[in-house]
Amino acid sequence: MLTSRSPLALRPILRSLVTRGYASNFRASDLTIKPRTSPPRVKSPKEQLAFGKEFSDSMLTIDWTREGGWGIPVIEEFGDLAISPAATGLHYGIQCFEGMKCYFSPSDDSLRLFRPDLNMARMNSSMQRLAMPGFDGGEMIELLKKFCEVEKEWVPKGAGYSLYLRPTAIGTHPFLGVDVSDHVKLFVIASPVGPYYPTGFKPVSLFADSTNKRAWPGGVGSFKVGGNYGPTILPAKEAMEKGFNQILWMFGDDDEVTECGAMNLFFVVQEGDKKVLWTAPLSRGDILPGVTRKSIIDLCESWDGIEVRESFPKMPEIKKASQEGRLLEAFGAGTAAVVSPIERINYNGYDINIPATGELTSKVWDELNGIYYGDIEGPEGWSVRV
Ligand SMILES: *Cc1c(COP(=O)(O)O)cnc(C)c1O
Repeated sequence: MLTSRSPLALRPILRSLVTRGYASNFRASDLTIKPRTSPPRVKSPKEQLAFGKEFSDSMLTIDWTREGGWGIPVIEEFGDLAISPAATGLHYGIQCFEGMKCYFSPSDDSLRLFRPDLNMARMNSSMQRLAMPGFDGGEMIELLKKFCEVEKEWVPKGAGYSLYLRPTAIGTHPFLGVDVSDHVKLFVIASPVGPYYPTGFKPVSLFADSTNKRAWPGGVGSFKVGGNYGPTILPAKEAMEKGFNQILWMFGDDDEVTECGAMNLFFVVQEGDKKVLWTAPLSRGDILPGVTRKSIIDLCESWDGIEVRESFPKMPEIKKASQEGRLLEAFGAGTAAVVSPIERINYNGYDINIPATGELTSKVWDELNGIYYGDIEGPEGWSVRV
């Protein structure tokens, strides 16, 4: 009788779930590195690098099936994937990704990652939102370190240079039913990148879009799932044709500010004698929990003279602050650009002009870059040696 069983009697059931893959994990110690068959690719001079166009020699792949659980992690030659044209990832957007960077630190000749635990937690949450399996973030960080070590020649040196890492998960189950994917492929590719601002900050202009929405309460805006990005490309192209760099995404009847482009958005406003760093909160689930966003908030909370506010700024309030001379700075934040100063926002045909790159934007830029490259000892655990 079930009620008379001790909890221990449930163990065989749990064990069978584990061996069937439902709770299994891959282990970094199982990594297999396949020998290369072709010669290393030719690397472009670092000055010519453009974002995401060139890839390193290898990729890391791990397959999962419902039957067998996670397979063995493999580092193999970078190359095309063979997947069924019926794969769920190609039909129903069963796809999510991460963006992170490996930096060369001249202070001790080390390679470093920045807060990779946050990327792994976010990837787990994105995968689980798409009913894909979870994994052990710590094991994945060890694998990323091994991958960076194998690809160390691909980490360009110098201020602003890094090896951009793109962990990705896709449904590979060949099945046209709109259902849980029984086969998943997790892979990591790497692309050497140069400074986002080779000649100093280049402030951007934004079009506050009152028609198109990026995300909404109850939606999936807080997950890095591919389905959030494809639909933004056409509105972004239209905004560019009107002379803007990116879209400022709003939501709600009172035009709450959410994000810009694929970046989190910050304002600095003067209120009486205090300066407020203002950004949208994560609580409603329509904001991507950026690693850069969190790091900026963490830093500013530890600095004097700035108060952090996480609530939705409304565009009319931002316009009013600007008219009263209280809108001091505005910037986007994300791994690719770090911070992206904003000089103009067009809201319902009205141009809000923002003073040139401000004090806080520059301070955040210096501090984050200092930590990325190991010149500044950041908070414990932020800079992780490979
Ligand atoms: C990736 C992303 C960001 C920035 O996240 P980071 O972890 O800081 O790189 C912000 N907004 C959106 C919509 C994103 O996709």
